[in-house]
Amino acid sequence: MQIPVKTHARTQMIDITSQVRRVVEDSKIQNGLVHVCSLHTTGAITINENADPAVETDILKTLNKVIPWDDHFKHMEGNSAAHIKVSLVGPSELIPLENGSLILGTWQGIFFCEFDGPRNRRVNVKIMADLC
Ligand code: ZN
Repeated sequence: MQIPVKTHARTQMIDITSQVRRVVEDSKIQNGLVHVCSLHTTGAITINENADPAVETDILKTLNKVIPWDDHFKHMEGNSAAHIKVSLVGPSELIPLENGSLILGTWQGIFFCEFDGPRNRRVNVKIMADLC
């Protein structure tokens, strides 16, 4: 199952937890693992605090400082900063599913991280059900 994600800025974190939960509910699978994967080389997936939006701002501010957009990169497309950020943050997360609920901490949410937007993105959600 794929979740569409529309981004509105070059760098942005979008909370997709509720969309992932909806896919899980629709599947009727109760126990297993949920793999959430970005289908892009310039968009990542991470799990972090979704209570205070300042956390997203601080993460993006730090990534943008450490990996500036223009640092005399060689990649012809001109978006090497985005590719590097995806390799650091990672393209996917794996979340336990127990009794129909994602096992996340109280303050944890699943985010799509846009690093070369704005764009229309897709996130793949694969549920692997327990065998017993
Ligand atoms: Zn590129």
